[in-house]
Amino acid sequence: MADLEDGSTETDAFPDVPLSGAELARVLDERLAEVPGWHSPDDPVRLGFAMTAPHALALDAFGRFAERNPNNVGVHTRFGDGVRGTRRLEREAVLALAGLLHADAADGYLTGGANEGTLAGLRAGRNALRAAGAGRVVVLASALTHHSVAKAAEILDLELRPCPAGPSWLLEAEAVDAALDALAEETGPGARTGVVVVSTAGYYNTGLVDPVDAISAVLARRAAAGGNLSVFHHVDAAHGGMILPFTAPEVPFDFRNPYVHSVVLDPHKSGLMPYSCGVFLCRKGLLGHGAVPAPMSGFVDETISGSRSGAMAAALWSLVFGLAADGYREVFRACLGVRDRLADAIRAADPDAVVLPSPGNTVVVAGFSHGEGRLPAELAERYRLVG
Ligand SMILES: *Cc1c(COP(=O)(O)O)cnc(C)c1O
Repeated sequence: MADLEDGSTETDAFPDVPLSGAELARVLDERLAEVPGWHSPDDPVRLGFAMTAPHALALDAFGRFAERNPNNVGVHTRFGDGVRGTRRLEREAVLALAGLLHADAADGYLTGGANEGTLAGLRAGRNALRAAGAGRVVVLASALTHHSVAKAAEILDLELRPCPAGPSWLLEAEAVDAALDALAEETGPGARTGVVVVSTAGYYNTGLVDPVDAISAVLARRAAAGGNLSVFHHVDAAHGGMILPFTAPEVPFDFRNPYVHSVVLDPHKSGLMPYSCGVFLCRKGLLGHGAVPAPMSGFVDETISGSRSGAMAAALWSLVFGLAADGYREVFRACLGVRDRLADAIRAADPDAVVLPSPGNTVVVAGFSHGEGRLPAELAERYRLVG
């Protein structure tokens, strides 16, 4: 099948004969050497990606359960206390995270990451809004929202309305209000439009947090006044949800707002978990809208994912209970210290730079006074920074 321009094939032959153990080890070692480590002085410092070395507790728990490979398919916050094994560990970890985010009653499950968690949130929202009589469902989010929101809207076949980000770089409550006015106006007589509003708690490139409380208050006020819109509010907390509760607990990005329906967290991003581990959380009563009977498995499936890793749940449980708030607080305080040292170093090197550490988050935004404000390519490469 030599159909590529350079004459190469687009597939490889499946091997007939196994490689020897020594040969396997040699290839794997070579590939491993190409992956930067976390603790070696020879490896590049990773400043520019929101992830951490996985914690030893998580790796140990993952290893303990990997061989039995339990399948955590399904949602284990839903069906009483009878769950056992890794499903019980998942239930306990998810409910503790829901408590951290001030939910009084929640459901949730581990996902492959925030892309999947946001897909789950928008799907729950779409289905709940349709159940409430909405014909058309629109997604409203800041133009600076992570691309996973556009992806979820595309998968769910929902129209995406980007709200221009103002000088604050945030989704402002007034902009949401105005966009909802426009949607109400567009809605024909007797019709109902559903709107999934997406707020972000920790933009990837700035670390900033939308005024989720003010947005939530606008949604509550509009709901109380009636009208032809129904609204669901999802919060993308992939890059703040595991940090802010420990560094800035007063930032109200979570279920303490009555008009927040679902939240996604990303423990593999800043929660010291290995890939792939996100957490989807929603208020009780919302998941049933997306239930699909799974007669071959004898249960109802409300997830996006299907079969899931029980070992990952064991790893997350180990961090929630083995690090707890004290441990996470210590880690993130140290991260904020590094952030501030970096900001100081930039100011010292370029006194006219604009330097904005994000409140409570691990990001520092810098605009340099030369090179059109851009990060020198050499630094971007060396420290894996996003220019
Ligand atoms: C990283 C990130 C995502 C995507 O998360 P994945 O775990 O890669 O799916 C979504 N939203 C924000 C704000 C992020 O920072």
